Order: sequence, then C-alpha cells, then structure tokens
Amino acid sequence: MIITLPHEAALAPDIAISSRSRFSDSIWHLDGLRPGGNRSDFSLDWDFAIAAGRFTDPGFAPWCEAAKTFLWSVKVDPPPGRKHLHDGTLTSLFKALRLLIRWMADQGYRRFAELDRDASGWFLAAMAARRNAKGEAIASSTMELYRRLLVLIYLQGARYPTVAIDDPFPGVTGTFRTRDRGWLPYTPDAIAVPLVSSALRLIGPAADDVIALYRQAQDAYDAALGSGLSQTRACFRVVDAIAAFRFATLPGEDAPWQAAPVTSTKRVRQLVDRLYDACFVVIAYLVGARVSEILGLQVGCIEHHASAAGDERFAYLVGRIYKTAHGHHGDAHRWVAPEPVVRAIAVMERLSEPLRRRSGRSDLWLMTSSTGLMGPAVEIDLPVVSTIIHRLNHLFAPFIGLPLHEGEPWHLNTHQGRKTFARFVGKRDRTGLHALQAHLGHVSRVMTDRGYVGTDFTLDELIDRHAQDETRAALEEMLTASSLGGKAGRTIAARSQFRGRTRDGDVQAYVDFLMAETDLRLGICDWGYCVYRSETSACFGGDGGPNPALRTETTCSTCANFAVTARHRPVWEARRSRNVKLLDQPALDPGSRALATARIAECDRILVALDHSMRDHHGSQDQPV
Ligand code: SF4
Repeated sequence: MIITLPHEAALAPDIAISSRSRFSDSIWHLDGLRPGGNRSDFSLDWDFAIAAGRFTDPGFAPWCEAAKTFLWSVKVDPPPGRKHLHDGTLTSLFKALRLLIRWMADQGYRRFAELDRDASGWFLAAMAARRNAKGEAIASSTMELYRRLLVLIYLQGARYPTVAIDDPFPGVTGTFRTRDRGWLPYTPDAIAVPLVSSALRLIGPAADDVIALYRQAQDAYDAALGSGLSQTRACFRVVDAIAAFRFATLPGEDAPWQAAPVTSTKRVRQLVDRLYDACFVVIAYLVGARVSEILGLQVGCIEHHASAAGDERFAYLVGRIYKTAHGHHGDAHRWVAPEPVVRAIAVMERLSEPLRRRSGRSDLWLMTSSTGLMGPAVEIDLPVVSTIIHRLNHLFAPFIGLPLHEGEPWHLNTHQGRKTFARFVGKRDRTGLHALQAHLGHVSRVMTDRGYVGTDFTLDELIDRHAQDETRAALEEMLTASSLGGKAGRTIAARSQFRGRTRDGDVQAYVDFLMAETDLRLGICDWGYCVYRSETSACFGGDGGPNPALRTETTCSTCANFAVTARHRPVWEARRSRNVKLLDQPALDPGSRALATARIAECDRILVALDHSMRDHHGSQDQPV
C-alpha cells in the first residue's frame, strides 16, 4: 500500500544545499567534509549516465527532481524518530540511490512509484548477485545499506508523494533497527601490544634520526633545484649529501635501528611516512580519538592544565569532534594526553613544518603526493581514510614486523585504536598489556580526576560497554564450560547448573542477575579469570582489587580465586613449551633450571585439571538418570 499525505510536499528549486550549491544545480557540493574524507565524494553529480541517456536529461526531469527531494528531505526532514543525516552519510546514500535508479532505468522504470514490492525484491536479488573486482560477493553491510535505502524511500514517500512506493518489507519496516555497531573489532592484545610498542619505539630517538635525515635531504634537494638542476640530477645530489648519515643505536639495542647509507630519496620518504603511521597509532591507541579527530589536529594542540587539587599539571590534546557535532566545523574537545602522545605531537609538528610553511595551513597531518622529496609542483593536503588504512596494513605492519594473528595478517582499520583504547580503559585487568599499562594507567587516573570533565560521551559509553561485555562473556563462559581448572574453577564446576549447556536464555538471565544484584567482581587476564575476594587473594589484593605487582601466572595458579577454562589452555601450553625449551639449553644455570621445572609442573597441574574436569563432566553425563 502506498501512503501519502493529503498535501503535496516539495522542496523549492532555489533552496540552499550548501554554501556553494542550490537544489536545482546538477552538482551538489556539500559542506560537511571532515578531515580524512574524500573531497570528490562530497560533490554529488546528478548528471550520471543511465540506460537511455543521462539523469539530468529533460525526459527524466520529474524523476530527477523526486530523487533530489528524497535525498535532501532525508537530511533536513527525516522520518519521525530518525536522526538528521550528516553529509558523509548522505554521500553513501547518494551512491546507493544512483545504483537503484540505474537498475530501475535498465528495467524500463521511469519513476519511483513503479518500484512495487516485487521490484524491490528483484533489486536486492540483483545487488546480491554482484561481485567486486576480486570476484567476491558484496559485503552484508552494503546489502544492509540497499535495504535501508528502500525503507527510507517508503517512509519519505508518506510525506513526499513523488517518492511514494509500496512498503518493500511489509510488517518489518516498523521494527527496522539499525545494525548494532558495537562489535566492530578491537585489535587483539597479541597484535595491539607489538603494534603500539613498535610505534612508541619509532617516535623516540629514531624519530630524531628520521627528521634530521629528512631535513638534510630536503635542504640538499631544494639547493640542487635552485641551482637549475633537473629533478633527476637533484636526487643524485641528495644521495651524495646524505651518504654519510648514520642511524643511532637505540637504548637497549646493540646495532643501529636502520641500515645505512640511505641510497634513494624514496627511502627517505618511506621513513618519514612510517613516522606518520607511528604517530597515528600512538594517538589512536592511547587517546581513543577517531580518525577525523586525529587528522583534524592543528599545530600547537597540546595544552597543560592543573589537576583539581592544583598540585599536578596534566597534558591535554586539544582538537575537535566532528561525528556528534551539530555544525560542519565540529565541537572543541580536550583529550587526556599521556607523555608518548605529547611526544608524537611534537614529532608531527617538526615533520609537517615544511608542508605547513609551503601550504600556509596549520594542519599537522598534511602529506604530499610525492613518493620522494618535495618538488616545486607537489600537492599538499590531508590524507583520506583509505590511505591511512592502506598504509597501516601494507606498509607499516611489514615495516615493524607485526606478528600474524591465528596464522593470518590481522586487518587494521582506523577505528580499531578507539575500540582498543575503550577496551583497555574498560578492562578491569590489564595484565596482558604490561607494555602499555603505564600510559593507559595515566589516562585512567586523569579521567577520574575531579577536575576532568570529559565531553566525549560516546567514548565513555564505549568504555562502560566493553567492561560489561567482557564480564558478561567471561561469566557465561565459566558457567557453561565443560572443563574448568583452578580452585575457584572447581567450585564453580561443582555448583553450576548450566555446565556443558549452550549459552541460552536461562544462562543469560542468571548472568543478568549476577551482574545487577551481586557485588561479584571478576578480573580477566590472558591466563584465566579471577573471581575476586580480598580475603582469599594470594596476591595480597586489597579493597580495590588484585595487587598488580604480585599478580602472575604462578601466584594465580595457587589462589582460591582463580578459574581457568579451555579458552586459556593455549596460554598454559605455550608457557609449558617455553620452559621445556629453556631446560634444553645446557648452559642454563641451576636457579633458572629449578624455576623452569617448577613452571612446567605448574602448567601440568592446570592442564591436567582441565582434562580431568572435562572427563568428569562427560562421565557424569553418561550416568543413567
Ligand atoms: S592471585 Fe588470586 S586474587 Fe590475585 S589476581 Fe590471581 S586469582 Fe585474583
């Protein structure tokens, strides 16, 4: 059924779409470009080709006007209960709409009203049959976008008759829910720790090397070009000028961190680019800012403010939040900046100085289009998000030797830093994150200082949610596990009525009860779970929780609070084989030999307990009732 309002709603041709475009224009240049966005995406060209010509041809004028009405109305007059769309979302919707119109034109349709329920189904089927350049089916999120587009057209058709179509999914539209985006992946600890640690290593003295090399090379290049040499000859001059450059040996290492001499300008650029990547990683993972917020940072963005008690000064990163802001220019925001972030900003300020000088801009993340040094005609701009993602995965990860995850390269994206940060801060226990604990501990401490008023509420929600999700998943796992080890694990195994069951509604209801009604405190670490009670804590924890200084595999393995499930088995197996390897070394001193032997025995106890627990459980299940 097509629903329409009694009055004709329409948008006037001269209404302003942006500071540069009117409704009747064939290209809409939108204003809402955020740092990291692709400028061309924000120019919506209605003059696209369709089967029988172009969409702005006079024969399609009513349909084109209806399509414009739909798109703009979704932004300025969304269906009841829906948010006004940001221009970035409008660009994705435009692309999907263009695809729908092209498909409709191919089928011989000439107006939205012809898109009946069957046609909507055929459209989705046609989209599902498409393949990308690699021959893969399109992503489910893209299919969701097409589905959402059809629903939006139907909903807007109730008020804009030129857009009215049949309900594409009768009985479903009313309960249509946006996809739950809470589970975009964070970076697993085994990847996050080497990733951030390598980035921290690079922004230390290594960064001073890269900046010195870059300056020397760029100065030589500018001088050579200034003397009238061609770009190719100027590059030879540069290679001569930097031939004597040597890299430092970093503290705790026994060789220079890079081989010398550097024999090409391309190599200089690569080192500079990897430093950009390292700074991006440090800020994303230790601050939790989004990519647009990082790429939008300006020179001089570190400020210092006193704590509430006035006895300490904290560093803050000052920038803008775009995603939840009302205007295109974002809302001002301050993030707590641990010391490495202050350093990363100082590095970026030095790295981007020549580009800022050349372009007259104050952005920190300016990059050049050049694969070598900056020539006279080089383009300078902020990178787009896809460039950052490409660099992280294909250039930075191999450069730092990022380990594989379960045998495969882990795919990094620009949102993982924020998700991982939220998880770090929300995590009750950060034992698996020794390398990052100092920095993250600093952030947590400042965020709870009375003088700190955070305004990134979505980040606060993300942090709470991660803490809750992690506790929930651990509780469900412990209650249903077929095999449980550790002293607390044995107690739970003996008492849980859910043991060996799938995580059904009863289990979830019980976990809801535990989380809401009891003061159960659960610590989560790589090698097991801590069902915390201070009176039985082997690490001498206090009211605030376990004592991090004494919390180790060895202490936990003897503690009454400790539980371990099959999920932790690989950690104990790996610990065992590491210590077995140690024993194989003939030169091992007696003290270390005794320690390795004790650790092997400890691992064996846990692994045997897991095996027994599993056998007992199956044995009891086999008993006649
Ligand atoms: S030693 Fe006991 S109380 Fe301390 S963290 Fe380990 S399991 Fe928890």
